[in-house]
Amino acid sequence: MDIGALKEVLDGRKLCKACIERLVPKRWRRFLEKVDPEDCWLCEGLSKEIDEFARLVEKKLKGYEFSTFLIGSKIDEEIVKKEEDITRKAGIKRYVDIKTWVNREVEKILSRKLGKNVSYQNPDITAIIDTRFNHVTLQVSPLYIYGRYIKKVRGIPQTKWPCRICKGIGCRRCNFTGKTYQTSVEEIIAEKVLEATGGESESFHGCGREDIDARMLGEGRPFVLEIKNPKIRNIDLGELEKEINAFAQGKVEVRDLRFSNKEEVVRLKKATFPKVYHAKIIAEKEIPKEKLKEVVDSLRGITVKQFTPSRVAHRRALKTREKRIMECKVMEVKGKEALIEILAESGTYIKEFVSGDEGRTRPSLSELLGIPCKVEALDVVAVRGE
Ligand SMILES: [Zn+2]
Ligand SMILES: [Zn+2]
Repeated sequence: MDIGALKEVLDGRKLCKACIERLVPKRWRRFLEKVDPEDCWLCEGLSKEIDEFARLVEKKLKGYEFSTFLIGSKIDEEIVKKEEDITRKAGIKRYVDIKTWVNREVEKILSRKLGKNVSYQNPDITAIIDTRFNHVTLQVSPLYIYGRYIKKVRGIPQTKWPCRICKGIGCRRCNFTGKTYQTSVEEIIAEKVLEATGGESESFHGCGREDIDARMLGEGRPFVLEIKNPKIRNIDLGELEKEINAFAQGKVEVRDLRFSNKEEVVRLKKATFPKVYHAKIIAEKEIPKEKLKEVVDSLRGITVKQFTPSRVAHRRALKTREKRIMECKVMEVKGKEALIEILAESGTYIKEFVSGDEGRTRPSLSELLGIPCKVEALDVVAVRGE
């Protein structure tokens, strides 16, 4: 930098100590006259507000539990422009800009005072100071909790299902509940978690989903519950698990709860884990045992072509999907009923694999058996690969 050039640019206007230290290398500082921050041409008093900013943030943070934080700020456009202007004209290349300086100074005060660490990567809370209005807003990182759920009853959807007519506002059709289904796995699990964390709202990220009328058994299905704007982060997950399971009254059960993160949500959403199903099927007439065994054996290892079933056509693209049936075996046969175990690729439509869906799924159990069959009850008994 060039001190002569800086003096020329300043043209008699003066800077405060903090601004000089941010912009000017040590050896040149004695050539500049210091003034009080209120009289500083550049920051216009901002530099003496640091303690006040820290106080405002501290007040705002009351009631939030966190271990790491970060400070961000908004600075008057005009100050930023002036700073850019003089540093460019005076050839100042290395300096601490005012925004960074404010952030770092407030962070220093607060981490000392509150005993918390600053995290640039993944802070629990980011406080944004609008220095123009002395106003602080908080961005609280969501809390992610991983677990597996078991759904022991039929008729409950995995996630909240707003009423199609009123979209959740409440209308005559939904009896003013705003919902198509009274409850869901999501709501049953989230209730106690929201209570424990003081969270504002939540999102449920399941690793796939079963049909509403299918049970989810075995070890359960992986999920991550995202709690938005949590006040409390240090919760006892073992205790929470017990509370959820007591509240769920045997409809749903959670296990293996642990803290998680956003990356895991992405992983679960992308995962294509094969599932083991138990399908109780019912045929239009008595099922010949030997023939069923032959058919089921022949289905092992095949690929089925499934055109989008009509029951999901309103929310899935119309196209043909190829799905692999890895295992298929007969568990029981009795009269018109049979129990079949199927290990199939993620996203296989099992009901249609059995019924054939009027030719939209081929081959199908019904087609090969030569007797129309349908799934009367479906359970997911295992999610493989997790
Ligand atoms: Zn200043
Ligand atoms: Zn409604």
